[in-house]
Amino acid sequence: RAKLHGPGSCSFHDSKLDQEAVNRFRIMQDFSDAFSQNEFELHFQPQLNMATGALMGVEALIRWNNLNGSVSPDYFIPIAEQSVYIHELGRLVACKTCEFIQQLDAKGYTDITVSINYSVRQFEHSNVISALHEQCALAGISPSRICVEVTETAIMTSHNRVSTLLEQHRKAGGSVSIDDFGTGMSSLEYLFELPVDQLKIDQVFVTKLTADDKSVALSNMIIELSKRLGISVIAEGVETKEQADWLVKHGCELGQGWLYSKALPPEALIDWLAQR
Ligand code: C2E
Ligand code: MG
Ligand code: MG
Ligand code: MG
Repeated sequence: RAKLHGPGSCSFHDSKLDQEAVNRFRIMQDFSDAFSQNEFELHFQPQLNMATGALMGVEALIRWNNLNGSVSPDYFIPIAEQSVYIHELGRLVACKTCEFIQQLDAKGYTDITVSINYSVRQFEHSNVISALHEQCALAGISPSRICVEVTETAIMTSHNRVSTLLEQHRKAGGSVSIDDFGTGMSSLEYLFELPVDQLKIDQVFVTKLTADDKSVALSNMIIELSKRLGISVIAEGVETKEQADWLVKHGCELGQGWLYSKALPPEALIDWLAQR
């Protein structure tokens, strides 16, 4: 047994782990079909000024509808990250984002920015931002229409490389937001040097506003921090009027969440805009 599994390996049988591995293996196999069968869609969630109701931008969120129904990105992105598929996915998201911006432009919505999510592995490719900008150029779109969202954890994992890439995007006129802020372990020292324009209060804190003291304290801290840094702050996962009111009152005017709209397919989002 030791010979078979090597030293230090775990020899007991865990059927739950096996099932996990099988599921992940299936997902990996399904990826290649997913691209050829066009099973990925990009949906967009409005980001508003909660005080005035003005639309600031939208966040692009990937959707995968396969034969068994829809698979959550929280589940398949980490699996895609273990293969080259994550890069193919990134290209698809960039491409669909540019298409959507063209659609917006055609309807006269020329100042709406689109936020795109990037994960750690995507930033391992030193040309990821160049590739995005090439797509923009092909589509006749300015990179200033795109906000790059990256999580705190991704930044801390490889601070220098990520910083360089974020800086590249900003030099081209684009903006940068730190996603899921407050859940990672960012060092304040790094924060002051980072090329970012926005902090995004994670929805775990927003959800517990205004009942949980810790969430209230952390949200207040993040809002205060953004003011000190001279950058903007946005709340995600705003579901109730009470949460929105608290945020506005405490200096966070920007927000997104089901209170306003879920992420919608491109055509539905354009209808949503037209009806306002
Ligand atoms: P995220 O970027 O932090 O996105 C926020 C998640 O919260 C989204 O889940 C969104 O649909 C959901 N959400 C928005 N408003 C509300 C609300 O009011 N209440 C609740 N309960 N949830 C809300 P989603 O779309 O399932 O995405 C999950 C995560 O997957 C994202 O977290 C992001 O990290 C990742 N992801 C999504 N699309 C992409 C992509 O194109 N590329 C990469 N690399 N990651 C992506
Ligand atoms: Mg995000
Ligand atoms: Mg988030
Ligand atoms: Mg998240």
